[in-house]
Amino acid sequence: MSPTLALVRDTSALEQRIALIACGQRPGKTQPCDSCRRKGAGLLNVAATGAADAVAAAICGTGKGPACHGCKDKAAEIVRAYNEGAE
Ligand SMILES: [Zn+2]
Ligand SMILES: [Zn+2]
Repeated sequence: MSPTLALVRDTSALEQRIALIACGQRPGKTQPCDSCRRKGAGLLNVAATGAADAVAAAICGTGKGPACHGCKDKAAEIVRAYNEGAE
C-alpha cells in the first residue's frame, strides 16, 4: 500500500516539452539547451498556475514583467502544452 505513489505524476516529458518551447523550436531540434532544460521544472510550476504573464517573465529572464513579444508567444504555447499534458 503506497497511497502517495498515485499522486506522483511523471512530468519529465512535459517538462522537456516546456523547456524546448522556451528554448525556441526549430525544425529538427528535439532537445532544449542545458540552460533551458534547467529552467524546465520552474517553468512547469509557473505554468501550473496558468499565469502566462509570469511564464513569459520567467522565460525572458527578468522574473518580472513586461516580457518581450517573443517570450509572450512562447508562454502562451507553454500554458497550452501544460494544459494538454495535464489532461
Ligand atoms: Zn535554450
Ligand atoms: Zn523575452
